[in-house]
Amino acid sequence: MLGGARVSCLSMYGVVVCPRCKRAKGVNLKQKTTKCQCGFEIHVIPARIRARAETARELAPLVGKVSAELGGGTEEYRRAQTPVRRRRSRDVHVRVIAVAGKGRDRASRLRSAAVELTRELEVFSRSDWERVLAGLGIPHPAEALATLVEENTVFEPKAGFYRAVVLNP
Ligand SMILES: [Zn+2]
Repeated sequence: MLGGARVSCLSMYGVVVCPRCKRAKGVNLKQKTTKCQCGFEIHVIPARIRARAETARELAPLVGKVSAELGGGTEEYRRAQTPVRRRRSRDVHVRVIAVAGKGRDRASRLRSAAVELTRELEVFSRSDWERVLAGLGIPHPAEALATLVEENTVFEPKAGFYRAVVLNP
C-alpha cells in the first residue's frame, strides 16, 4: 500500500474520463468510484487519471483542459495531445490482440478478447470489438459478439456497450 499512500500525498485530486460518454470529471482520488453526469459509475483507477492536482482549486481548470483535449479544443491542445491519445487507444487494441491471439481456438480467442477489452476499458464498444477481431483475423465480429451474449459470456450494460461477465477465466 506504499504506492497508494505516495500517490495520494502528491495529488489529492484528479481528472478522470468517463469510458461511456467520454466526458471529463474532477474527482477526489480517495474515492474508488465516481458517478458521471450520464449515470455511469466510473472506477477511479490510475490508468484512467488524465491529470492530477494537489488542491481542489486547481481541479476546475484541469477539467476544462482535459475536456478541451477530448473535444478537440484549441489547435495547440490538439497538436500536443493527439499523438499521445492515438498511441494510447491503439495500444489498448494491440495489447488485447496480443493476449487474445494466444487462445487455442476461435472460441477461446473470442472469450479472451472480451475479457481483455473489459479489463482495459471497463466497457467496450462495437468498434473496439471490430478492431480487435480484425487484428485477430476473425471474420463476422457482430455475429461473434451476439454468440458471446447468448452464452452469457458478455452482457450489454448499456445499449452498444459491452463487458465480459467474468474477468477471471
Ligand atoms: Zn459518462
